[in-house]
Amino acid sequence: MAKKQFKAESKRLLEMMINSIYTQREIFLRELVSNASDAIDKIYYKALSDDQLVFNKEDYYIKVTADKASRTLTITDTGIGMTKEDLENNLGIIAKSGSLAFKKENELKDGHNIIGQFGVGFYSAFMVADVVTVTSRALGSDEAFRWESKGADGYTITSCEKDAVGTEITLTIKENTEDDQYDEYLEEYRLKSIIKKYSDFIRYPIKMDVKGQRPVEGSENELEDYQEEQTVNSMVPIWRKNKNELTAEDYENFYFEKRYGFDKPIKHVHISADGAVVYNAILFIPENTPFDYYTKEYEKGLELYSNGVLIMDKCADLLPDYFSFVKGMVDSEDLSLNISREMLQHDRQLKLIAKNIKNKIKGQLQSLLKEEREKYDQFYKSFGRQLKFGVYSEYGANKDVLQDLLMFYSSTEKKQVTLDEYVSRMPEDQKYIYYASGGSIDRIEKLPQTEMVADKGYEILYFTDDIDEFAIKMIMSYKEKEFKSVSSGDLGLQGDSEENASEVEENDSKELFEHMAGILSGKVKNVKASKRLKSHPVCLSTEGELTIEMEKILQAMPN
Ligand code: ADP
Ligand code: MG
Repeated sequence: MAKKQFKAESKRLLEMMINSIYTQREIFLRELVSNASDAIDKIYYKALSDDQLVFNKEDYYIKVTADKASRTLTITDTGIGMTKEDLENNLGIIAKSGSLAFKKENELKDGHNIIGQFGVGFYSAFMVADVVTVTSRALGSDEAFRWESKGADGYTITSCEKDAVGTEITLTIKENTEDDQYDEYLEEYRLKSIIKKYSDFIRYPIKMDVKGQRPVEGSENELEDYQEEQTVNSMVPIWRKNKNELTAEDYENFYFEKRYGFDKPIKHVHISADGAVVYNAILFIPENTPFDYYTKEYEKGLELYSNGVLIMDKCADLLPDYFSFVKGMVDSEDLSLNISREMLQHDRQLKLIAKNIKNKIKGQLQSLLKEEREKYDQFYKSFGRQLKFGVYSEYGANKDVLQDLLMFYSSTEKKQVTLDEYVSRMPEDQKYIYYASGGSIDRIEKLPQTEMVADKGYEILYFTDDIDEFAIKMIMSYKEKEFKSVSSGDLGLQGDSEENASEVEENDSKELFEHMAGILSGKVKNVKASKRLKSHPVCLSTEGELTIEMEKILQAMPN
């Protein structure tokens, strides 16, 4: 049986596409600029294999011009241009990508920068324009053609004049309506910021005529209007530069420019990975806790670039929650984007990158801990709580990643120490890692329960954060040493078996204890003699899994 081809209602298809693919209108400029960059890249690649063709970088640029009077926005490029057939095929057939075909024909594999692949980006122009006019002259041709369309109605192609090879795309920007604003796409500052946001690292200059005022030379307070052509984009992203050429200050400037934070980062990592997945990344560990960090408002994530073009502001999948404080960006050529290029199609590559990044961050924190302890202390002050949450969440699934990074205040060292440091100091006869919970260091120091352990000369970790004890319950033991609360029934100290040790006192004071238990009925389970007290008359202790501090926290939690 002869197979029939699907037909599509192309008008409807175009409308659907224009209105439903993209969540943000401003990306039309990203799409048109990306196409212009692709067009220049094509000359660049052709020149690589064609001796007749010389590629002088200065001759290649993209220009964006807005004219409020005629409501037009024009994007001009000096790229490869389009023949009549190209216009027909690439702009007349939805989802046909001349750029993808170019990549295939020329067998461009690694290191290529061509962005286009879906053959739909161009039509995003209709989100902001009533009319789109494309005037183009192809490389090696004397003829030029004009493609024009009002969207769903179809298009016309006519012959025209054009002096130079390349393409000029003119959008007649829509009028403002009650609900929708379009005027902004004719504003210089707005266009500049869209270019900066998405296309800052396009490899060719994106130029704009910038108007301004400046003091008249030789005069004190007279101003004159001026207009000059400026290159708006930075072109070479810092992450593609050689690490050896970059200073700490360059990274700090990048952090600041990107508004990752207003503090100075404690540490940066520059990753150029070319293993199973190829990507560049620059990551920062901030110094201070962002004001909304421990709230629901805080959004974790890294900027995600595909080939230097921004795809996502905050890609959450790149960071585990326990490293949610990390700021920075990832750029990869290996991502499978979905058609809007706002999301990813398959997340296999992304998962690989995320795993890689997680390990790098851990490594960085460990080296900070080892080599720059003061900085680690500062980091821990800002984000240690998040690490402890990380240990506690997911039933302790991440404890192996995180337990070496934890610190607690030590009774003997009088500062934050790691579990490893604690265990390495343990005398041979000490069986457990002791800890005491309380609202503050001062309050814990006054706890009667700490006396017995401290008198033995053992170090005690002070848990002042409400998450501490919960996190430790997930770790259970560190280097085969179990954790023990100083207020637990059996402290595991030599000669501290509560029952037999206190039998005598128990019998002597039986009546007193019964009387006390009666008065405290409903508040305590039992009143017993304790051997663990030295200078204090009484202390509270618990039986079972939960300690008093944990019970307090659980009771304070909203149901
Ligand atoms: P994509 O860029 O994903 O291929 P687009 O819809 O953005 O899809 O563009 C469709 C095709 O039109 C491109 O693949 C390219 O062949 C052609 N094209 C678009 N803009 C230009 C331009 N400025 N110069 C040359 N060719 C262009
Ligand atoms: Mg495109």
